[in-house]
Amino acid sequence: MAGKPSTSREPRPIGRGVVRQRRIATVLLWTCLSISVASAALWVTSARWTAFWMTQFGDMLGVKAGYAGYLWTSAPFRRELIEATNRAMPSEPVWNWHCDTRRIPMEWWPPVFFSRHPTGLAIISMHLGVPFGMGLIGAFLARRWLRRLPRPDQCPACGYFTHGLPAGVCPECGRPIPPSDRFPQI
Ligand SMILES: [Zn+2]
Repeated sequence: MAGKPSTSREPRPIGRGVVRQRRIATVLLWTCLSISVASAALWVTSARWTAFWMTQFGDMLGVKAGYAGYLWTSAPFRRELIEATNRAMPSEPVWNWHCDTRRIPMEWWPPVFFSRHPTGLAIISMHLGVPFGMGLIGAFLARRWLRRLPRPDQCPACGYFTHGLPAGVCPECGRPIPPSDRFPQI
C-alpha cells in the first residue's frame, strides 16, 4: 500500500474478479443441473429399458434397473475368448448398441457397487440417484455462491445498484466506481 499510493485513488474496476467468479458459479450451476436432469432421465429410461453398448467380449456400458454401470474384461480374458473361437472373433473390441425392453424390477441398493472376478471381469455400477443428488447439492451450493456475489452492476462495498450511472463514486457509500458497461454514458 505504502509503495503504491496512486492505486488507492483509481477506481477499482467493479467485479473484475467478481465477474469471473459469477461466470464460474453460473457454469457450475448449469453443469450440476444438467447432471441431475440427465441422471433423472436415465433413471426413467432404465425403468423401462435395459440399454447399453457392448463388445464381443462382454464389456458393457449402459443403464439397467436404476443403475448406470460399466463392465470390462481383462486382456487375458479376451485372449482366452479369442482362442476359444479359434480366432474367429475380432481381437479389437467392437462396440454395439443393445436395447432390451423387458421390464425388470428397479433396484435401490447399494448406491455404488464394485466387483472384480478372478475370471477377468470387473464391474462398477452406481445408482442414478447418486449423481442426481450430487448434482442437486452442487447446484444448490453454486446458486448460494452466486447469490452472495455482488452483481457486476452492484457496488461491491454496499450493494447499491450502479446500473447506468456515470463513472464516479457510489452515491450510497462513496466508493469509486467505473461506468456501467451495459449502458455506457455518452
Ligand atoms: Zn456503495
